[in-house]
Amino acid sequence: MSDSVAKVLINLSLDRTFDYRIPAELEGRIAPGAKVSVPFGKGDSPRSAFVVSVSPSSHRKDLKPILSLCGDKPMIPPNLLKLGEWIASYYCCTREQAVRVLLPGAVRNGKIRTRTVPRCYLADPAAAAEYMGKATARTRARAEILKLLSVRGGQSPDALATAAGAGKSAVRALVKLGLIRVEEEKVLRDPLRGAKVQPTVPLDPTPDQAAALKKIREMADRTDGPGTLLLHGITCSGKTEVYLQAIAHILERGMDAIVLVPEISLTPQTVSRFRGRFGDKVSVLHSGLTDGERYDEWMKVYNGDVRIAVGARSALFAPFRRLGLIIVDEEHENSYKQSEAPRYNARDVAVMRGRMEKALVILGSATPSLESWHNAESGKYELASMRTRSNPEIHLPAVRIVNMQMEKNEEDKTPFFSKMLIQAVQKRLADGDQTILFLNKRGFARQMLCEVCGFVATCADCGVPYTYHRKTATLSCHLCGAALPAPETCPDCASPQIRYQGAGTERIEHQAHALFSSARIARMDSDTMTNPAQYEQVLTSFRRKEIDILIGTQMIAKGLDFPNVTLVGILNADMGLFLPDFRAQERTFQLLAQVAGRAGRGFAGGEVLIQTFNPFNPAIEHAANHDFIAFAEEELEVRRELEYPPFTRLCILHFEGPDAAEVQAAAEALTQRLAGEAPEVEISPPSPAPVERIKGKYRFMSVARGKNQSRFRPVLRAAVMNWRKTNKTVDFQADVDALNLL
Ligand code: ADP
Ligand code: ZN
Ligand code: ZN
Repeated sequence: MSDSVAKVLINLSLDRTFDYRIPAELEGRIAPGAKVSVPFGKGDSPRSAFVVSVSPSSHRKDLKPILSLCGDKPMIPPNLLKLGEWIASYYCCTREQAVRVLLPGAVRNGKIRTRTVPRCYLADPAAAAEYMGKATARTRARAEILKLLSVRGGQSPDALATAAGAGKSAVRALVKLGLIRVEEEKVLRDPLRGAKVQPTVPLDPTPDQAAALKKIREMADRTDGPGTLLLHGITCSGKTEVYLQAIAHILERGMDAIVLVPEISLTPQTVSRFRGRFGDKVSVLHSGLTDGERYDEWMKVYNGDVRIAVGARSALFAPFRRLGLIIVDEEHENSYKQSEAPRYNARDVAVMRGRMEKALVILGSATPSLESWHNAESGKYELASMRTRSNPEIHLPAVRIVNMQMEKNEEDKTPFFSKMLIQAVQKRLADGDQTILFLNKRGFARQMLCEVCGFVATCADCGVPYTYHRKTATLSCHLCGAALPAPETCPDCASPQIRYQGAGTERIEHQAHALFSSARIARMDSDTMTNPAQYEQVLTSFRRKEIDILIGTQMIAKGLDFPNVTLVGILNADMGLFLPDFRAQERTFQLLAQVAGRAGRGFAGGEVLIQTFNPFNPAIEHAANHDFIAFAEEELEVRRELEYPPFTRLCILHFEGPDAAEVQAAAEALTQRLAGEAPEVEISPPSPAPVERIKGKYRFMSVARGKNQSRFRPVLRAAVMNWRKTNKTVDFQADVDALNLL
């Protein structure tokens, strides 16, 4: 009889499996998903690997044996292994990279183990009593230890020795004598450090919530697969309460639930809303945990000790075996897309995991992505809308659009602060209220903006603004490759007042100090906030009203509730509008809608001022009116017209290397070959990326667009896999369903 054979993936990005013999002592215990150790490479040094399949026998006699098995059941459940295979093929990454996202590093690398502490107990109470009875001056300390233990067992050796005024050797001696038994007890590393949470009970649903929950229950009952629900609910409509009651329903049916939230909104408050309802049935997974904490939280899911996992992107891979529900909150958030390989989008993978495991998927947002909205409109997803606030006392703030074309200072230049905004801030300072000044500052691309008429030089074919390249004084479109000399006067109104870049937060802060000399001002952006502690510190002092004006970027737009803020000023709404990215309107809308929705939470009479050179831009107008549906309708028309997602699929090919000409040549050769092999996909000729050079490397990109990519994707994947073999100096990466076009 010959031995069984296991195919394993070794932790090297080779995108291939290796065969190993299953030795007699492991026969029957090795299953797909098992973590094993195998001899590999020169000297056959042991390496960890994951089994992907097992076959009964092989004719090959020369196979090396598996050395050992880790754990008594597969580390990766078979359902997740299948999801990993899908990720590798869809996102064009190696199978090893895909397996890597399935397990947290702390679990994968095997360096972290369950933490235990020694606990002492009396081994033989009768013998101990006898020992204490015969105690002499010399053994008095030992007798004291036994006495302490007879009152209360389970203390650590150190604590015992200290309490008895003895040395540690006294405890050791008693262990040797067989009077004390030491047990290693498992302790959990608690990321919440024992914080108490207030238990909550289900609230009476509002009519909107009741309708959404009815639909959720109806979908969860479908035996052929529940499908995906888009939950569109305005801010404060009570989405979280719907999530909580949906989870309760799933738990009652004996199944488990995953809740994904964007990393930035994974605050203690968010977690306590789930802990408050479900107590210690909840495990929390996010990047702020120590390796030990993450290991423990993951193990709770793995061992079936919890029923709910709440976390950022990676919590999607919580190893539940009876998954009934996945919730993706703020489903439009870009942070669900991983920026390095595998470049998966957790929202889309959630829909796939839901389909594979027949679990209901709920995508929730006040400003859904146009992809999800389109899927709901076309019937691919179900839709539930919540358009009223759960608490009618909470009012929307008044949103005002300030036309910056009308603003001029003494030098006839456009100032950063409009007169209306200056007056509004001064009023807050006089009243002792707080102000947030928000600077939209995403990406680095520079555009040509006319300060007189608001004209932005835009590629007519692609509908995205040209990127300004200072060194060559050109404007270029990185989607189609068109380039032209940068004009010196506005092509629309002939004014020479054109600007090639916006103001930074630092200059705004400087200006604010000059304008409001008595105010206490703090700035919050990625330059000033280099660690989470600083972030917390600024927020705390802002909450304590030690700061009058907080200036910041995207960082302050999300998830923050400040009851004393009565004014939010958005200094440059246009900034994000004219990024060379077809999603620029959508992102601007989301950001402005979020800021506007946020400001109305804690106060009456709140005010939002939006400064813009483009007061009639639909993204700005609809955000000011809190009208997502009108925005979506208008923007989807543009997407359809210009053939952008969701009406097609888009993949970006990134090339970079130290020599620009070489990068360009390699990129051209590859894109020509791909175009020949998959003619149904349109591939643009490579052009310099909007950010042309990063860390001394020249970057080129090419965009592949096509409704049906089923033929293209395998070709692309093969190109990614084989690239390294022939190209040592130029790097090539594919970003499937890219969200970042810069
Ligand atoms: P969203 O996530 O949609 O912005 P939240 O879930 O944060 O809204 O709810 C906003 C507020 O409304 C919370 O304070 C919540 O406790 C409250 N709330 C939600 N549902 C109800 C309800 N059915 N009855 C009373 N208050 C509710
Ligand atoms: Zn102009
Ligand atoms: Zn173009």
